[in-house]
Amino acid sequence: MSQHLMNTYGRQPVTFVRGEGVWLWDDQGKRYLDGLAGVAVNGLGHAHPALVKAISEQAARLIHVSNVYNIAEQARLADRLSALSGMDRIFFCNSGCEANEAAIKLARLHGHKKGIEHPEIIVMDKAFHGRTMATLSATGNRKVQAGFEPLVAGFVRVPFDDLEAVRQVAEHNSNVVAVLVEPVQGEGGVVIPQDAKAYLQGLREICDRNGWLLMLDEVQSGIARTGTMFAFQHSGIYPDVMTLAKGLGSGVPIGACLAKGPAADVFQPGNHGSTFGGNPLACSAALATLTAIEEESLGAKAVEIGDFINHALREEFKNVPGVVTIRNAGMMIGIELDRPCGELVKQALALGLLINVTADKVIRLLPPLVMSKAEAQQLVDILAPLVKNFLSQ
Ligand SMILES: *Cc1c(COP(=O)(O)O)cnc(C)c1O
Repeated sequence: MSQHLMNTYGRQPVTFVRGEGVWLWDDQGKRYLDGLAGVAVNGLGHAHPALVKAISEQAARLIHVSNVYNIAEQARLADRLSALSGMDRIFFCNSGCEANEAAIKLARLHGHKKGIEHPEIIVMDKAFHGRTMATLSATGNRKVQAGFEPLVAGFVRVPFDDLEAVRQVAEHNSNVVAVLVEPVQGEGGVVIPQDAKAYLQGLREICDRNGWLLMLDEVQSGIARTGTMFAFQHSGIYPDVMTLAKGLGSGVPIGACLAKGPAADVFQPGNHGSTFGGNPLACSAALATLTAIEEESLGAKAVEIGDFINHALREEFKNVPGVVTIRNAGMMIGIELDRPCGELVKQALALGLLINVTADKVIRLLPPLVMSKAEAQQLVDILAPLVKNFLSQ
C-alpha cells in the first residue's frame, strides 16, 4: 500500500481489480465470493449491466451541475423515492453521515421553531450514525468517539429496544425534539428488536404523544436489504424523517434525507446544502438501482436467500458450542459467537470469501441482493467449517 494514504483503515492484504455479480477477482487472478457487498452497498452485485449502462450514458451526457439549477434526474429520483416510501420531500447528499447530519439539523431547526432553544435528540446504545462530529456524537460506541471530545451536545442516550426507557425521558425532559434510531442495528451487531414491528409502532406512539419527530436511520437497512424497500415498511407506520445512503447508488456515492408531513417543510433556502448532492450521475445510478430492485424482485429474494442462509447455518451449527445465536432480517445476517472472532475475516479471505466481523463477536454477512441459492450454499460451505474449526481451538 502507498505510504501516502492516511492510516485510517486496518486493510486486508488484497487488491480487487474486477467484479461480476457476487464474484470479485484480485490482481493475482484469484476469485472471491462477496458476502459483504462493500458493506451493504453493492446490492445489485458488481458490474450489473443496467447500472453500467445508466451511468455510462449519463456520464457521456452530464455529470454535474450546481444545485442552483434544476436537475432533472434529481427531480425524477425524488418523485420515485417519494412514491416508494410515502415520504413527501427529499434532500440529497453524498453519504450516510451527511444524510444523518441533515436529519439532526432538521430536528434542531424544528425544535427552535417551536421555541426550544436547546433541542435534544434521543439516540440508542450501540447505535452507529457515522463519523462526522455530530454523527459520531449520536453514535453509541465509545471507540468511535474516543479522542474526539468535546462531543456535540444535544443527544440523550437510552438502551435499544426499550420503549419504557424512551417514555421515562419524555416524563422529565422537555427539550427532546426527536428520536433517531436504526430499525435494525448494523454496526452494533445486526441487532433486531425482539418484536421489531411493535418497537417501531411504540416509538411512533411516543413521538406522536410528545410532538417529537421519529427519525429512522435506514442507511444500512434500506434499499430492499431487509425484504421491503425500507425496513419501516414491515411495521405499518411512517417515520417523520428517514435517511438513506449505502445501497441507494450501488457504489456511486449518494445519500438522502427524506421527510414527511410538517417535517418536510422545516428546511427553507439557506438552511442546508451540498455541492455534489443529487448530481445527475449519482441520481442516475440510484434510479437504475431502484428499477433493477423492482424488476428483479430483489426484496423478495433478500428474504428468501437471507432465510436460506440462516437455516443452513443453523443446521450446520446445531450442537456446536460457541455459537450464541444466528439472526437475520432479510440479507442482514449476524452470527454471534461467544468470543471475539475478528481473525475470521482474514481466514475467510484466504479461502476466497469476504465477510465482516462487527461488535467483536458477530460475524456479519451483507451479501449482494442478487445472490442465488447455489451461491448462498457455496457461502455456507466455506463459512461453516471455518467457524467450526475456529471454535474447536
Ligand atoms: C454506514 C452507516 C452510516 C454512515 O454512512 P457513511 O456513508 O459511511 O457516512 C450511518 N448509519 C448507518 C446505520 C450505517 O450503517
